Amino acid sequence: MIKKFLHQIMFIEILQGMVLTLKHLIIKRPITFQYPHEKRELPDGYRGILVQLRYDDGTEKCVGCSLCEAACPSRCIKVISDEVDGNPLQRYAKEYIFDLSKCVFCAFCVAACPVDALAMSKFYEFSTTNKRDLILNKEKMLEMGDKAFPVRQKRFVPDKKYLNIFNLGKKNFPPVHQKS
Ligand code: SF4
Ligand code: SF4
Repeated sequence: MIKKFLHQIMFIEILQGMVLTLKHLIIKRPITFQYPHEKRELPDGYRGILVQLRYDDGTEKCVGCSLCEAACPSRCIKVISDEVDGNPLQRYAKEYIFDLSKCVFCAFCVAACPVDALAMSKFYEFSTTNKRDLILNKEKMLEMGDKAFPVRQKRFVPDKKYLNIFNLGKKNFPPVHQKS
């Protein structure tokens, strides 16, 4: 009881806090970054803006399957797919609309994509005064993907012409014959 009373009148916690603050002020270097002049290095696995990826020959990886749309808990992805011209067995995302303002950066869409067409970039500067700027289309996402991931995955081409493989994601499927 007395101990508690003494503790209260001597403001122990405040003194402890002040000692810690002084220690940081005098002994340790400041930990504050002078943003935007200084930017901290982001760790691997950082989840920034969602981007779309291409293969090394420039073709889009996305096959318009809409699995990302189904996986997204925020309902911020809308995919409108269509047949590839001259190849009715293959599809692509004719339109891909991503509402960044609703994204919670969970990366469920990245995990759901069977062809590794999505990735979380390290871009995080997207403040704007116009909410419409946060609605990204496929072209914008691919442009950001090119910047964020300049090293592209090699495109896998199946050696059988009759074989139309949609799921060519390297991490999810065994390697397919690769043309040199
Ligand atoms: S990161 Fe999560 S919230 Fe954002 S688009 Fe992907 S699934 Fe949706
Ligand atoms: S899951 Fe992948 S391939 Fe399917 S629509 Fe989404 S981005 Fe495209």
